[in-house]
Amino acid sequence: MCPFCPGHEDATPPEILAYRRPGTDPNKPGWTLRVMPNKYPALIIEGSLNREPRGIYDRMNGIGAHEVIIETPEHAKDIPDMSDEAVRDVFWAYRERMMDLERDRRFQYILVFKNHGEAAGASLEHAHSQLIATPIIPKRVAEELAGAKRYYDFKERCIFCDIIRQELIDKERVVKDFDAFLAFQPFASRFPFETWLIPKTHQSSYLELSSPEVTILAKAVKETLGRLKVALNDPPFNYMLHTRPVSKEHHDHYHWHVEIIPKLTKVAGFEWGSGFYINPTTPEASAAYLRSIDLADIARFQAAKAAGNDA
Ligand SMILES: [Zn+2]
Ligand SMILES: [Zn+2]
Ligand SMILES: [Zn+2]
Repeated sequence: MCPFCPGHEDATPPEILAYRRPGTDPNKPGWTLRVMPNKYPALIIEGSLNREPRGIYDRMNGIGAHEVIIETPEHAKDIPDMSDEAVRDVFWAYRERMMDLERDRRFQYILVFKNHGEAAGASLEHAHSQLIATPIIPKRVAEELAGAKRYYDFKERCIFCDIIRQELIDKERVVKDFDAFLAFQPFASRFPFETWLIPKTHQSSYLELSSPEVTILAKAVKETLGRLKVALNDPPFNYMLHTRPVSKEHHDHYHWHVEIIPKLTKVAGFEWGSGFYINPTTPEASAAYLRSIDLADIARFQAAKAAGNDA
């Protein structure tokens, strides 16, 4: 039994948000997308932030929100084979939940991410993503913010806007130019086939996205994941949405983006010990490979997979 399938709504905590057919009741079938608290949360919503010393160590309460977004009622679907509208709803729901949680003053950051496939940490195969609101800015984001700030102080320009300009000139790491968004593989990327999606005009927050832009973003994500799916035979992957922290102060040097990381290599002793990553594939070669896949290949791949599932 899958707790994310319609008819099993009582296997999960009550929904916080749902897109559903008119006339259907909350926590009953009839939904196309559903958001609820994680049944096994990494952080809990009730309580206040306490930081207390324990010798040289500080302890902090695990306050936060941990939500699950069920992306589709259909068990076997995932983003590349969902309708454009359904994918759009997923990215719209992220926006709605972020807006709501930003009102909670305890939170400094809201991280949206997706784990696809068991090797990438997905405990259920039914398509879903997660959102975690935290009382501190996560380390990876803090590092990106600090790096972007240093560059901005030095050059008075956004580093991400400069990267976009450079990638459009070099072209060899571009997967596809989706007009309002660019899909590219970062120079000296950490992982094989690591792919970023970024708005081409400067936006520090995901919440600055307009409704028509969400439609384009959804198409860009769907196609990019479709290319990766065909190229790597439905690989496990994670994607993370990096946006500016909740506080409104001076984050103009930051530029939101989505990082997609297929899980193809293992992080082992050298990586843990050094913080360096060995990437066996150059982004120039993998981007060229992703460009060579056409949309008909994606459709054929999905059809073959669906036929395999029926047999
Ligand atoms: Zn299911
Ligand atoms: Zn920028
Ligand atoms: Zn990032």
